[in-house]
Amino acid sequence: MTKSAANAQDVESATGSSVEEIGDKILGAIWEHRLPPGTKLVEEKLAAVFGVSRTKIRLALARLSHDGILTIEPNRGTFVSSPTVEQARQVFDARRLLEPALMRELCNTGVRREQLQRLRKNIALETESRTRNDRRTTIRLSGEFHVLLAELGQNAYVGRYMRELCSLTCLVIALYDAPGTPACPHHEHVAIVDALEARDADTACALMLEHLGHVENTLRLEMPADAEVDFAALFA
Ligand SMILES: [Zn+2]
Repeated sequence: MTKSAANAQDVESATGSSVEEIGDKILGAIWEHRLPPGTKLVEEKLAAVFGVSRTKIRLALARLSHDGILTIEPNRGTFVSSPTVEQARQVFDARRLLEPALMRELCNTGVRREQLQRLRKNIALETESRTRNDRRTTIRLSGEFHVLLAELGQNAYVGRYMRELCSLTCLVIALYDAPGTPACPHHEHVAIVDALEARDADTACALMLEHLGHVENTLRLEMPADAEVDFAALFA
């Protein structure tokens, strides 16, 4: 690297966001449904908005596409992914494998008081945003509840997979949500934390499975999002 290039990079890292911060901001916008599935992400525009080089934007986008959150289409650009019905079902199947096991592990190892407080704080914030009718924040917080749980598990891989699966779940909700249904059924998070606090593994596992079933059932996965309208049948 030449001296001037190094200097330029120093200046940039002092004023602009890091690759990680940019990725987190884009992810946050996806979680809040501000960037719906199918949205094209243009490097130049993002570089201007974040005040960084296109290289940094490209790195941030590459990371998210590696996790399946974004899809890079050759010669077309980078888009927010649109999971198919089959992929949506697989996301829930994967969560059904991971999350009950995680509950069992947390009950066995025990969750510290400050960790329980963190979970309950997330629930309180969610209640607040629900009362305000702030649907975007509610969806983000209810997803974050599950990521928080995974992060308590001390297994970095599980934490990473859960973050990825929760991001995909947000996209699935954006695509297949029946109008007016509010993310995770709220009181169920409270019951899950209560079971963790009581270290009741069987109840915690059962509640988590039931909860994931409820979330999946609020979605309209019977109809593919990209189903072609049969105009002949429609207007016959
Ligand atoms: Zn939930």
